[in-house]
This record gives sequence, structure tokens and C-alpha cells, in this order.
Amino acid sequence: MKAGVIAVQGDVAEHAEAVRRAATAHGESAEVVEVRDSGIVPDCDVLLMPGGESTTISRLIHREGIAPEIREHVAAGKPVLATCAGLIVLSRDAKDDRVDALGLVDVSVDRNAFGRQKDSFEAKVPIEGLSEPFHAVFIRAPLIDDVGEGVETLATVDDRPVAVRDGPVLATSFHPELTEDSRVHDLAFFPESEVEA
Ligand code: GLN
Repeated sequence: MKAGVIAVQGDVAEHAEAVRRAATAHGESAEVVEVRDSGIVPDCDVLLMPGGESTTISRLIHREGIAPEIREHVAAGKPVLATCAGLIVLSRDAKDDRVDALGLVDVSVDRNAFGRQKDSFEAKVPIEGLSEPFHAVFIRAPLIDDVGEGVETLATVDDRPVAVRDGPVLATSFHPELTEDSRVHDLAFFPESEVEA
């Protein structure tokens, strides 16, 4: 399986490791490519949109012509895992002129709004499709404040959605790539089978 990590900015190496681990657990190997230019995404089977700084990621994927290729990838029904800033970039509306959101996940988000009193926090979060809770790391996390009809909420914290699925895209406001546990990567790319943590 060829996995493209959008690598214009953000925590790229962690996603590369996590998708390799998830593939290995399923008896597959992942060839991971870092995407900084157009022309690479069309050859990828799955995509990862890392956390980082959504204004920067948005600006660069549009400038480099990667944005329309991500749209085509999703239109073809191919899987994407988007985390934190990645979720913001793929959302319908990020309420920030500096983010030209792609509208591939039908949610609106409020950047940096989750847990405003504390920049970062961690929580054990039950996730639909996983038998055991997931240790979720939140860093200046976006608050999902509106969820469209076709969107499935997979996890909540304080009644707020923190993991959603919209067609082939699984998006989280936390950072599953920052722990050793690759079950969220499993859910995104191997939705049929759960592998033990
Ligand atoms: N709040 C950041 C943004 O708006 C995202 C933070 C993150 O990815 N950890 O880009």
C-alpha cells in the first residue's frame, strides 16, 4: 500500500511511523511517501493529513497544487486520516480567512477552541469500533461545533465530537500519531478489522 503523508508542514514522521505500524499489524507493508509537490497524490492509496499549523498547511497545499489532488483522492473514495490541523484544512468551514478549507469533511470547526483554558490535555476516549478506550493527546485542538448530516461521530469528549467519519475520511481533533497505539490509523485504513493495541 502506498501511503502519502502531506508533508508541507507538521508532524510528518510520526504519521509515517504510525501507518507503517498499522500496515505491519495487517500483514501488509506501507511504502510511505512525503508529499510536498503535486503529482504524487494520484499514485497514493491512502493519505495522511498531519497536525501542525493549519494556516500554513492550507497556504502551501494550494500554492503547490496539491489541494485539487486531495479532492480527487476523496472523490475516488480512497481513505484519508486527518488529525488536528489536518481536520481544520479538510473541514467545510474553519472560520478563518487564512484557511481555504477543502470541504471534504462536513463539519465546521473553531480553531484552537477545545480546552481553551488549557492549551493541551490528554484523555482516555472511547471510540466507536475500538473495544478499549484510546489515549488521546489534544494540542491546541479544534472544536468541532457543527456536524453535517452524513457525518458519523465516532468519539466525543464532554459531549463534543472529537473523531468523525465522512465517507472515506476519518478526522480527529486529537493526535493519534503521537502515541504508540496505531488503532486509529487501523480504523482509517483497515476499517474491516480491529487489531489489539
Ligand atoms: N490549532 C492548530 C491550527 O489551527 C492545530 C494544532 C495542531 O495541529 N496540534 O493549525
